[in-house]
Amino acid sequence: MKNDFIFCPICASKNITNINNRKWECPDCGFVLYNNSATAVGVIIVNDSGQVLFEVRAKEPRFGLLDMPGGFVEHDESVEQASGRECREELGVDINIIKYLCTFPNTYRYKNFEYKTCDVFFIAKIADGAEFRLQSSEVSGVKWCSVNNHDDLEKLPLAFDSAYRALDFYLKNK
Ligand SMILES: [Zn+2]
Repeated sequence: MKNDFIFCPICASKNITNINNRKWECPDCGFVLYNNSATAVGVIIVNDSGQVLFEVRAKEPRFGLLDMPGGFVEHDESVEQASGRECREELGVDINIIKYLCTFPNTYRYKNFEYKTCDVFFIAKIADGAEFRLQSSEVSGVKWCSVNNHDDLEKLPLAFDSAYRALDFYLKNK
């Protein structure tokens, strides 16, 4: 998929060119826009039984499939802050980050635009008996699933490949 613009957003020239999906250049006004990777976070919330908390996605892409809480890091925000904010927004719970896990690149297609991301994963816990307040536009439910081995992992209907890779890394480094 190629992210194309019809007009230069600065001078409205139709000569704006997509260079390998890495950047756009306008030969008429010199405008250059880099298609940089966006930073995103994913939070692997674990409990003492070795289960991982998943959200059931309430929207496209990958409606109905499982994902970890997370999302794009906002301007002037750390990845730790973004992790806490996303969990509060999506699940209504406060997390306690246990440790940094890993990062993986990902591709996120949304409304006819393809975003390249670098997803940063953390392991976190929530308080026992924490009450969820789900963000209904994003999350239709939550599930605690056993992720003790690769058989468990293969059975999960995960929305994104980066979540699979992060959980694979989690299992190999447990
Ligand atoms: Zn231009």
